Amino acid sequence: MHNTPKFKALLAKPNPYVHAVNGPDRLKEECGVFGIFGHQDAAALTALGLHALQHRGQEAAGIVSFDGNQFQAERRLGLVGDSFNKRNIIERLSGTSAVGHVRYSTSGDTAMRNVQPLFAEHSRGGFAICHNGNLTNAITLRRDLVEDGAIFQSTSDTEVLLHLLARSKKRKFIERFTEAVLQIEGAFAFTCLTNKKLVGVRDPLGIRPLLLGRLGDSWVLASETCAFDIVGAEFVREIENGEIVVITENGIESYHPYQKQAPRPCIFEYIYFARPDSIANGKSVYEVRKKMGEQLAIEAPADADVIIPIPDSGVPAAIGYAQKSGIPFELGIIRNHYVGRTFIEPEQRIRQLGVKLKHSANRSMVEGKSVVLIDDSIVRGTTSVKLVSMMYEAGARQVHMRISSPPITHPDYYGIDTPDQENLLAAKYDVEAMRKFMGAESLAFISVDGIYRAMGHEERNNDHPQYTDHCFTGEYPTSLSDKTSEEEPRLSLLSEVL
Ligand code: AMP
Repeated sequence: MHNTPKFKALLAKPNPYVHAVNGPDRLKEECGVFGIFGHQDAAALTALGLHALQHRGQEAAGIVSFDGNQFQAERRLGLVGDSFNKRNIIERLSGTSAVGHVRYSTSGDTAMRNVQPLFAEHSRGGFAICHNGNLTNAITLRRDLVEDGAIFQSTSDTEVLLHLLARSKKRKFIERFTEAVLQIEGAFAFTCLTNKKLVGVRDPLGIRPLLLGRLGDSWVLASETCAFDIVGAEFVREIENGEIVVITENGIESYHPYQKQAPRPCIFEYIYFARPDSIANGKSVYEVRKKMGEQLAIEAPADADVIIPIPDSGVPAAIGYAQKSGIPFELGIIRNHYVGRTFIEPEQRIRQLGVKLKHSANRSMVEGKSVVLIDDSIVRGTTSVKLVSMMYEAGARQVHMRISSPPITHPDYYGIDTPDQENLLAAKYDVEAMRKFMGAESLAFISVDGIYRAMGHEERNNDHPQYTDHCFTGEYPTSLSDKTSEEEPRLSLLSEVL
């Protein structure tokens, strides 16, 4: 759709969603959201839900609760388990409704003002918001708002919605909220809290996930079903693409302000992002990943002694590959769980160190063998380069690399952390050049149709793709207003954070 030569040329420009906020080669956040209405332990359950969603963002977490009189907020850099304790949950975050957020962010103090939930006092009362995704016209909207006198407190794209909502002249909450939401573009799953309502919204294509659950008489919203499991909530249904749900003491109301269209959830949720025990769009993420491994074994068999996953992301696909090929599965690489994900380290040289800290060879499973290493994706290539040479150093005879997603050739603008196109290995090199770069005996990726097959479709519907797969195809499903705008809108607050 947006795949014209002009649009492709624009892709060569740096990613404004990364640069404007985080500086070159810094990474944009990925997030998880949660919300609960009508439970006496609202904040404690939110902390548990966020703990289950911790894989979606590990640099900061926050909760806002409403105690019937006042809003209470706790926002911290760091892990949920380290930040939330008896003192702040039980003594401070009282009330029967709460929303919470986990995120990746830039490191250090400057990020504090971006830690969510963001909160604003509007003419009709307090409003807290948590966002998973990324707004692709936030810089453009923000520039107009600032010119009109708005004063922004954060560098986050999410704050734009607070300003749009504050400015609406409509009478009813849902009209004001809808008016604001209809102005934003991109990917979003929001959980929002007012003194009377818990609100959930999913973008018109349903790019980012949001689900509804039930815990006794309480309603729960979360990014993934694993957050329901931890609090003992039952999964009720997905929030539909383009749907707004408003939960009050009187129950739940649903609104569909957008023109109806087919959903296009992000395929990367299934490949990497979601926890394997989550169910997304009725599919077990674990089973889908295993099927991706099976499909990879069909498309790219290897003559080898042992199948070795790159832990943890490659494990389900490696099990599928091993079962399909009949080659034994072994843990030939051991992961140290006490280091953060390599991906969040800000500088390339630190990231490389991170890979060494994180993985070590299990020599007895590798020595003298021809091994197949399986991972879910190659982004910059840091992990595969290190691990191929680690396998040879541990005495492997041959190292074959198999990847259970197609080559990532295009950056994401919808809230997944990807570098600029020039830093994506598959954007720079073809498969043979990548193989040489990592020093593997062979290298192969699953095909785009293969990934759809693993998801239970016959093939990709090229006229109406069932998912958004822009990272592999370059077909962005929405306009990218900030990116295609002729100006480079750089507000001083944005560059101050660099
Ligand atoms: P790289 O080492 O840069 O090629 O990144 C590939 C590794 O990062 C793989 O092991 C993936 O599982 C993991 N990965 C892929 N996408 C992401 C992401 N958005 N955030 C964090 N890690 C990722």
